[in-house]
Amino acid sequence: MEKIQMTTPIVEMDGDEMTRILWNEIKEELLSPYIDLKTEYYDLGLEHRNETEDKVTVESAKATLKYGVAVKCATITPNAARMKEYSLKEMWKSPNATIRAILDGTVFRTPILVKGIEPCVKNWEKPITLARHAYGDVYKNVEIKVPGPGKAELVFQGEDGREIREEIHCFQGPGILQGIHNTEQSIESFARCCFQYAIDLKQDLWFATKDTISKKYDHTFKDLFQEIYEREYEEKFKELNLEYFYTLIDDAVARVMKAKGGFIWACKNYDGDVMSDMVSSAFGSLAMMTSVLVSPKGAYEYEAAHGTVQRHYYKHLKGEETSTNSVATIFAWSGALRKRGELDKNSELVEFANRLERATIKTMEEGKMTKDLALITSLKEVCVQNSQDFIKAIRQTMDR
Ligand code: NAP
Ligand code: MG
Repeated sequence: MEKIQMTTPIVEMDGDEMTRILWNEIKEELLSPYIDLKTEYYDLGLEHRNETEDKVTVESAKATLKYGVAVKCATITPNAARMKEYSLKEMWKSPNATIRAILDGTVFRTPILVKGIEPCVKNWEKPITLARHAYGDVYKNVEIKVPGPGKAELVFQGEDGREIREEIHCFQGPGILQGIHNTEQSIESFARCCFQYAIDLKQDLWFATKDTISKKYDHTFKDLFQEIYEREYEEKFKELNLEYFYTLIDDAVARVMKAKGGFIWACKNYDGDVMSDMVSSAFGSLAMMTSVLVSPKGAYEYEAAHGTVQRHYYKHLKGEETSTNSVATIFAWSGALRKRGELDKNSELVEFANRLERATIKTMEEGKMTKDLALITSLKEVCVQNSQDFIKAIRQTMDR
C-alpha cells in the first residue's frame, strides 16, 4: 500500500515522561506505516527546554503561527521538585502558558465517547465541548488582606487624566479585598473563537455569566458576545440552523444536567476551570479528554488534556509494566492530521484521521482497553492491555 502524502508539515511538539514514550510508539505503530509523515519537530522535553533556555517553546509556537497546525505531547511544568530532579537553570514557565501567550485564543475540551464507558449523567448522549476563556479574571488578580478598619476604593486613572472612583467597602474590622480585570480585546477574541468553532463543528453555542449581579463586568461579556454574534456570525448560524443561546450561569448549569449534549459550552475563565473538570470526570476519565487551542490568528494546537502521567513513568523506569491510556494523545494526532488535511484539501489525510479514530474506539468497544477504563466499564468481557499492547491492538483493528 502506498503511503499517504502530506504537502504541509505539522508542527510536532514532543514532551515528557510517560506521554513521551507513548508519543513515539503512536508514531511508529499508528502513523508512519500509513503516512509519509511530514512534521517540523520541536523537542519540548524538559531537558531540551532547559538547554535552550526555553527558546524552543517560543520557536515552536511561532512555527505554529506559520504553519497553522500543531500537535503537542504533555510536558512537565517545573516546580521546586523538578528544579532539583532536572538540575534546571531556572523555573521555566509552563509551556502551555508560553504557547497560549503567543497564539492567544481559547481552549476547547471534548470528551471521547465509547460504548461501555457510560457518562455518570445518563441523559448525556453526545459530548459536551467546554470552551474556556484563558485570560484574566481571578487568574490575574490582585489581593489585599485588610488588617483593620478603613475604607477601600476602586480607582482608575486614565492616561488622559480622567479619574474614576468607586467605594468598595468601609471596613469596621479586618477583611479581604480582590481586584480583577479583563480586556475588551481578549473577550472579543474569545467570542470569535467560540462562534467560529461552533460553525466548524456545526453545533449550538451556549454562553453564560452572572450579568444580573455583575452589571458591568459580566454584562460586558454578554454584550460583546451579542454584538459580535449579530454583526459577524448570525447569518451563518441561521444558514446552518445553529443556535446561539445566552443564559445565566446557574440556569446554564441546571440545563446542562438535563441536556442530551452535542453543543459547545463557553465559560468565563473560572467557570471553565471548574466545569471542565466536572464534565470530563462525569464523562469517564481525564485520559479520554482531548483539547485544542484555537487561535484567532488562524492556528490550531491539539493535545491531550492530561499530564505526563509521572507515576506510571517511574514504574516504567523500574522496568515494571504500565497500562497507560494513549487515547487522548492519539486523538490529538488525528485532530491535527484532520485539520491539516482540511486546510490542504487533502481528503486522504482527513479520511485517515477518521479511520484512526474509528479503529481506536472500535478496539475499546471490543473490550481491549487500559486499566483506567477497565475499572469503570460496563462491558462484561474485558481484556486489560498494557501501554504497548493497546497501541498494537489498535493497529490490528486498523489493518482489519
Ligand atoms: P497527570 O499526568 O494527568 O496524571 C494524574 C493521574 O491521573 C495519573 O497518576 C493517573 O492516575 C491518571 N491519568 C492521567 N492520565 C492518564 C492516562 N493517560 N492513562 C492512565 N491514567 C492517567 O497529572 P500529574 O501526575 O498531576 O502531572 C504530571 C506532570 O504533568 C506534571 O509535571 C505536570 O506539570 C504535567 N502536566 C502537564 C499538562 C500538559 O502538558 N498539558 C497538563 C497537566 C499536567 P493513577 O496514578 O491513579 O493511575
Ligand atoms: Mg482545573
